[in-house]
Amino acid sequence: MSEPSPLLSAAGLHKTYRKHAVVTEVLKGVDLTVRAGEFLSIVGNSGSGKSTLLHLLGTLDRPDQGQIHFDGERIDDLPAERRDRMRNGVFGFIFQFYHLLPELTALENVLMPMMISHSVLGWYWKRRELRHRATELLDRVGLGHRLTHKPRELSGGEMQRAAIARALIARPRVLLADEPTGNLDAANGTDIVRLLRDLNRQDGLTIIMVTHNMEILSATDRVVRLAAGRIDRPAAPAEDAPTLPADGPADEMPDASPPDVLPWRRAL
Ligand code: ADP
Ligand code: MG
Repeated sequence: MSEPSPLLSAAGLHKTYRKHAVVTEVLKGVDLTVRAGEFLSIVGNSGSGKSTLLHLLGTLDRPDQGQIHFDGERIDDLPAERRDRMRNGVFGFIFQFYHLLPELTALENVLMPMMISHSVLGWYWKRRELRHRATELLDRVGLGHRLTHKPRELSGGEMQRAAIARALIARPRVLLADEPTGNLDAANGTDIVRLLRDLNRQDGLTIIMVTHNMEILSATDRVVRLAAGRIDRPAAPAEDAPTLPADGPADEMPDASPPDVLPWRRAL
């Protein structure tokens, strides 16, 4: 049987940040191929460029060099408007700190991307159908009994479930998850990964997950490691995960985007 063609692929990605006099060369030639239906995890030390890579793959940012293809089409160099439209339909994002809007209920948070992406009239006509879908999704992630709760009335695990439902509302082909269990205790972290695993296995969702948590790697199909600006383990089976060399202690500091930024908004 021939290998299925890749759904998402990156070739020779380079990314350097320049801030005042500080030049940080983060990615130095990353090659990565993700198959449809795969659950891939990316590990690496704090600061190794995991979030940067996820942002490039999801077209939230552009590489300095290299190319990204989705379903055979080059996506890293699309004009902004086309790229935004493509991103809305292709990628869902979840983050370590959920980025839910505090004044909105769980249901409203899930609907928010749809409110933003539809015209007023479009929203008016579709609002029942979309509310129905959002309710179903919250049910699917185990939050059917928390529709009208606001984020402060939810646990961390529940907030991440709401964020997952929000990421799925636009029916993405690929879910990009940046340290989704990084702010949760072990039991809640395991539950979230189990949910991601179910979405991958039952709904065929392709997932790329960045994590520090070695214990949850075994839930994924494949583990790659980002080190020195490159992927240094091209295709380790997940069974090998516990034997991955620990490259220093997992960092204690949360490495999330600044709290004043709502990264998923850029994903709209
Ligand atoms: P990881 O997610 O693996 O912890 P990041 O991709 O967030 O790593 O960051 C990689 C490096 O790039 C870090 O040294 C970080 O300080 C730097 N960096 C990330 N984003 C920016 C930015 N917007 N401007 C300048 N430097 C950045
Ligand atoms: Mg990060």
